[in-house]
Amino acid sequence: MRKLEEVLEDWEAVIGLEIHAELTTLETKMFCGCKLEFGAAPNTHTCPVCLGLPGALPVPNKAAIESIVLAGLATNCDIEKHSMFYRKNYMYPDMAKNFQTTQGPVAFCMRGHLDLDVDGPAARERYRLDALEPGETRDNITRTEDGYVAHVGITRIHMEEDAGKMVHIGGGEGRIAGATHSLVDYNRAGTPLIELVTEPDLRTPEEARLFMQKLRQIYLAIGISDCSMEEGSLRCDGNVSLRRRGATEFGTKTELKNMNSFKNLHDGLAYEICRQAEVLEEGGVIYQETRHWDPSAKRTIVMRVKETADDYRLFPEPDLAPYDLTDEFIDRVRAKLPELPDQKAARFADAFGLSAYDARHLVEHRETANFFEACMEAAGVDAPKLAKPVANLTINDIAAYLNAEGVALADTPLTPARALELVRLQADETISSKQGKEVFAAVLAGEGDPAAIVEARGMKQVSDTGAIEAVVDEVIAANPDEVARYKDGNTKVIGFFVGQCMKKMRGQGNPKLINQVLAQKLAE
Ligand code: ADP
Ligand code: ZN
Ligand code: MG
Repeated sequence: MRKLEEVLEDWEAVIGLEIHAELTTLETKMFCGCKLEFGAAPNTHTCPVCLGLPGALPVPNKAAIESIVLAGLATNCDIEKHSMFYRKNYMYPDMAKNFQTTQGPVAFCMRGHLDLDVDGPAARERYRLDALEPGETRDNITRTEDGYVAHVGITRIHMEEDAGKMVHIGGGEGRIAGATHSLVDYNRAGTPLIELVTEPDLRTPEEARLFMQKLRQIYLAIGISDCSMEEGSLRCDGNVSLRRRGATEFGTKTELKNMNSFKNLHDGLAYEICRQAEVLEEGGVIYQETRHWDPSAKRTIVMRVKETADDYRLFPEPDLAPYDLTDEFIDRVRAKLPELPDQKAARFADAFGLSAYDARHLVEHRETANFFEACMEAAGVDAPKLAKPVANLTINDIAAYLNAEGVALADTPLTPARALELVRLQADETISSKQGKEVFAAVLAGEGDPAAIVEARGMKQVSDTGAIEAVVDEVIAANPDEVARYKDGNTKVIGFFVGQCMKKMRGQGNPKLINQVLAQKLAE
């Protein structure tokens, strides 16, 4: 198979996502009073309604309707005041009613959108991005300084309910293949679920990943779900097709299941794009089918050829009255909208003079955003001056540490006060940035406050001009060839001199001063 970059030269990928989120922060299920609890003993949270017993009548969960309206408002959707529930009929043991209650052509939320900021390496998957100047627009993207913004349409967000959970016994890895029997846990049956469907506006696996990440940030900010891809409270199906560059008709799509991490979503789509290209280039055809991404084998395999929507005999649910949302209800929900990640980023950029890039990456996780804010609060009048170094520490060092260790920031010895102290020690040149990394690691290892660590390790940076001049003289005297090259106009050798001085001073020299003194002495 060819590489993704090569394939995307010849083919345009068209991607649309279907994203399910369980409303895990609610107390009870969608149409009954059963408790919502992940990990409870099997079948302990069930009743005649969620077990589909004859004659049991559903009652909609008002808090769930509030949650979906909140989700719609947070993703720029129109809220449909009049909508209703439908029955999607199918027979499978995970849903005892033999139908799933869902919505029809009109969902609570319609016609939304999200704008994705794609920057850094993620922007490289976009075809011929370099042909655009910053500010210039092509199709649904606008070029920025360090990437582009993609406008992604949201078709709808509808309300539905989750099915129960099947446990297959005796097969490999819990799969149905080879199993001797299966068990059903109906605790999950009837869990409020919202499904967001995007327009086929995404063009690269990175965009799909970023959309999913952004949506997760929003759902977490509005507090409607714990959005755990591992536990399955946030799930994503990826639809993807190819068409020749320049073609206007869509190709036949396949649908990928089991994309239970951001990496799987990206890698599964990337694989599928390459697979489809190979089939098409060999003169084959793509069948509209559902495929399963196997991350360990790194390939997708056919699950089933897609049934048409008609198979479900979707019809209006006779046990539930159509919904009429009032303006007051919608306004009341709107009033509950918290600051969303994009707004927070704009505020950070504005209040602390950060670049859009820094601000955006700070708000990626609520944890780091809150930490940054606490640092700024503690910094008082120095906040504008220290914002950039604190942002760097947060986005780079702290995020990398949390990622690598898989811990929560609150569970580490790093407090906003300590982070600030560390940044101050570097800002006033008590320690170098290299020493800063060492102190950062020591704080996380539980060695206490940065100032105390600097003291205990005798790490103070040498800013004594006399001492630095002596070292610089030595280094210049020992390297006449490099001095000659410098005088010939090769100013880059200054880096070599700085390195030599630093080595002699065991990393404790103030690099700024060393640079100054070197420039002076070399010019003599
Ligand atoms: P289906 O009827 O198969 O469920 P839908 O039209 O409901 O398909 O779309 C489901 C998802 O697939 C949406 O996210 C949509 O954007 C996406 N999609 C639709 N057509 C294509 C296509 N040709 N290529 C890629 N994605 C597509
Ligand atoms: Zn129940
Ligand atoms: Mg569909």
